[in-house]
Formats: sequence, C-alpha cells, structure tokens
Amino acid sequence: MIKEILPNLFKIEIPLPNNPLKSLNSYIIKSKGKNLIIDTGMNREECKKVMEQSLKKLDIELEETDLFITHLHADHCGLVNYLSTKNTTIFCSEADGNIINSLNDTKKWQGMSHFISFSSFPPEELKAALTNHPGYKYSPRENIEFSIVKEGSILEIGNYTFYCLETPGHTFGHICLYEPGEKLLISGDHLLIDITPNISAWSDRVNPLEQYLKSLDKIYKLDISIVLPGHRRIFYNYQERISELKLHHQERANEIINILKYQGPQDGYQVAAQMTWDIKYDSWNQFPPQQKWFAVGEAIAHLNYLEGRNLIHKELKDNKLVYQLSSK
Ligand SMILES: [Zn+2]
Repeated sequence: MIKEILPNLFKIEIPLPNNPLKSLNSYIIKSKGKNLIIDTGMNREECKKVMEQSLKKLDIELEETDLFITHLHADHCGLVNYLSTKNTTIFCSEADGNIINSLNDTKKWQGMSHFISFSSFPPEELKAALTNHPGYKYSPRENIEFSIVKEGSILEIGNYTFYCLETPGHTFGHICLYEPGEKLLISGDHLLIDITPNISAWSDRVNPLEQYLKSLDKIYKLDISIVLPGHRRIFYNYQERISELKLHHQERANEIINILKYQGPQDGYQVAAQMTWDIKYDSWNQFPPQQKWFAVGEAIAHLNYLEGRNLIHKELKDNKLVYQLSSK
C-alpha cells in the first residue's frame, strides 16, 4: 500500500469506502527538516486507520510534519484537524481554505440547494442528496488556520522544490505542485487518468468549465515527466491526457446542444437526466440522489459554459430556470 515513487517521496492509498473514486492518493515527503503530507483522506475511521498505519511504517512524527491541501474536497482535506499538532503548518489556497472553514455552516449548503431548487429536482431527493453529501459528512469539524499559498509560492522539502500553480476549475482554489528539477506534477484532481475530474456548478454566476479548460492549457505547456494524481494510477503522457479531457468536455457540450435542439427548452435536472453517464446504474431513475446531485452540477457547469459562449440562454419559467438554444 506504501510505494516509494522517488527518493523519500511516498504514495499511500487511503480507501474511500462506497465511493466511486475508490481511494485517495496521499503523498508523503520525508526530510531531515519538516516532512510534508499532501492530501489526507476523509474524516472517517477507515481513512484514519490506514493513514495512521502508514505514518507508523514510514516512521513519521506528526510534530515534525506539515500538511498541504490541493483543494477543498473532503477526500483531500478531511483529516486535517486529526493530523495537526501545534507545530503543523497547513498550506491551502485562500479560496478553498475559506470554503473548508464554511462547510459546517448550513447556510452554504442551503445556498447551493436553493439554486438547484429552480429545476425539476424532486425536493425530497434534493434533501437526501445534501444529507449524504461527503462534504457534509466527512469534512474537518474544527476551524482551521491555513497558511495561504498562491501562484508561484514555493515549498522546499528535503531535496525537492515545489512551485504552487493555481489551476481553478475542479474547485476555484485548486492548486497543483510542480517540481521542475524532477519534472514532476502533483496534480490533485486537476488531471486524472481512467476517470474524468468532476467539473460542477451550483450557481449561474460561475463558469468553472471555462476556467478548467484554461487551467488544462496552462499545464499542457509545462515540461512534465510524471504526474502524481489525487486518485487512481500515476501516469506520464500528460499532453495526450489533456487533449482527451478537452475533447471529453467538448463532446459533453455538444450532447447538451443536441438535447436542447431535439427536446426544446429544458431545466438543469432534465438536461442531466438525458445525458450519458459512465455509471453502473441502468437508468436515471436508479441513480441515488447523491449521484443525481453531482450529475446536475456537471450539467449546469456545461450549461453555464455554453451560455458564456452565447450558444444558449436561460429564462425563469414557472419557477424553473430553463435553457434553450440561442437563435443565430
Ligand atoms: Zn476533488
């Protein structure tokens, strides 16, 4: 379960039970000064156990260890409270750090579900989706004092020098770590292989897909030999993967254009129900509410992107936000 990728740089797999992501890759760098843990796993027993065992095997003392969080999702930051001591510095972007500290505030969740309620998402299922949301269940519980990193911030650990790269899209404050000497990228959930990073929106005021595509272009230009992602396997062919991801989103956007073309005006929930999903359920009706929530978020990210390109527009009809093709 522990693998040494480069000298003193280890990958450990933290299990994520009943989650389609299967596991989280936490990376640990040992040094004579402070050690660094990059991403932690969720705030739940199964993750704590494996993290604890791995730290023991690697002979890591938490008093001599700092934490780096690539982004706000609970599978990446859930154990931050649990792993910190009074000597720990916890690095995170300002945008994502602020959201992590607001996850215990029910108002934030109400805001997201309020926007989705302007669609045909059944209210009971919407409620169930939020109560089962991993961000609601498995995030850190106490307020965290973050040490803010931004574009160009440098982290030196042992022989490694990491540069922070702002890569908004999967979240607004997502950060990748680039080590130019080793041509190594710790990509968080910005670049993944075998699965596609989820790009979601729960508001009409944001355009994360536009940001994500720009962040992909930014990484494409770097010189990278090895990508260490937040989930699944390590990979090398990053430019090929970036091209695939861009094509994937273009195809999703085209699929939505076709849905609106043939079905007429639709709300976000209706659009999501007609998109194709790479998931084990046979039909939309079998999706658990939680999966529907993620699907609708992804549909809205693509709808906002198309709206930003003036290809579609929306209006409020009978208390539902409906989208339709713009006439040329
Ligand atoms: Zn994530």
